[in-house]
Amino acid sequence: MKINKVLIIGSGPAGYAAAIYTSRAGLSPLMISGLEPGGQLTITTDVENYPGYENPIQGPWLMEQMKKQSESFGTKIINDYVTNVDFDKFPFEIQTEKEIFYSYSVIIATGAKAKWLGITGEDKFKGFGVSACATCDGFFFKDKNVVVVGGGNTAAEEAIFLSNICKKVILIHRRDKLRAEKILQDRLFEKKNVEIIWNNQLKEIIGNNENKLVEKIIIQNTLDKNENELSIDGLFVAIGHKPATEIFKNKLEIDEDGYILTKADSTKTNVDGIFAAGDVTDKIYRQAVTAAGMGCMSALEAEKFLSNKKVS
Ligand code: NAP
Repeated sequence: MKINKVLIIGSGPAGYAAAIYTSRAGLSPLMISGLEPGGQLTITTDVENYPGYENPIQGPWLMEQMKKQSESFGTKIINDYVTNVDFDKFPFEIQTEKEIFYSYSVIIATGAKAKWLGITGEDKFKGFGVSACATCDGFFFKDKNVVVVGGGNTAAEEAIFLSNICKKVILIHRRDKLRAEKILQDRLFEKKNVEIIWNNQLKEIIGNNENKLVEKIIIQNTLDKNENELSIDGLFVAIGHKPATEIFKNKLEIDEDGYILTKADSTKTNVDGIFAAGDVTDKIYRQAVTAAGMGCMSALEAEKFLSNKKVS
């Protein structure tokens, strides 16, 4: 039975940063890449806020560089999907669709996915006016008119952030009350260029098929069912995220939103030797650079764990 020193689940910035650090430390990590190798960045286009690049880079290109860098130091990457884990056993047992792996330490970097509305036009215009990340894409809508959908902290924060860049921000919420914290609501209501449309749901996103840019949306009042058309330049869907933690339920401590809980200032989970990094544990920052930073932390912590266990 081959026992790995480090097994990394997930191949976004957190997973690759963990792979680069652990492979450089001579720990020969094994990465199980998951169903969508490269993670969320592979479905974005321009990336302007990852340090080190003067001009915009493409998300898929950045992930390809991280993959090559990881492999150049000896990371072995397997394109497979983890279906079950047993963290009661040591070495830990990780089952994929194709085989069973064993490891003395595991770094979980399975990420999270933005929730989408599932309406007509959404998939077609993702990356072409429809986004789920204002920090990532807001700048492309400088002095333009945008809509944010949602009523939680994320929607309020995104609307506030966009109000400093865009000409006008319309927040559309399906009820007549926001779920966001009061302090965020107060800040939002102070903004002169933010309008809130209450009790409305999006029905359809319409755009120009030639240049593939969003032009308008159809909204429907949830009370009287009347429909209206709004001309917009961009749409930010901010209705929450879903961390990929199904297989870790009842095996690790997870919060009520499904995020893996880690110790303060650390990537350690409640099981010794299991670490979590990136969006799977982070509901606040959710940036490629913060995920990569947490991947680095998890690698250093795994290295220390293995050295204390005298596995090196
Ligand atoms: P959230 O709190 O779950 O809010 C999601 C919002 O989207 C709700 O207002 C919900 O409406 C709306 N929504 C859901 N599905 C919808 C649909 N199909 N159509 C239209 N609207 C829909 O999500 P979140 O704002 O991303 O926050 C997630 C967690 O992260 C929360 O615990 C939050 O406090 C935390 N967070 C914290 C910070 C911070 O501390 N600075 C920042 C961001 C997030 P209803 O209200 O009608 O249900």
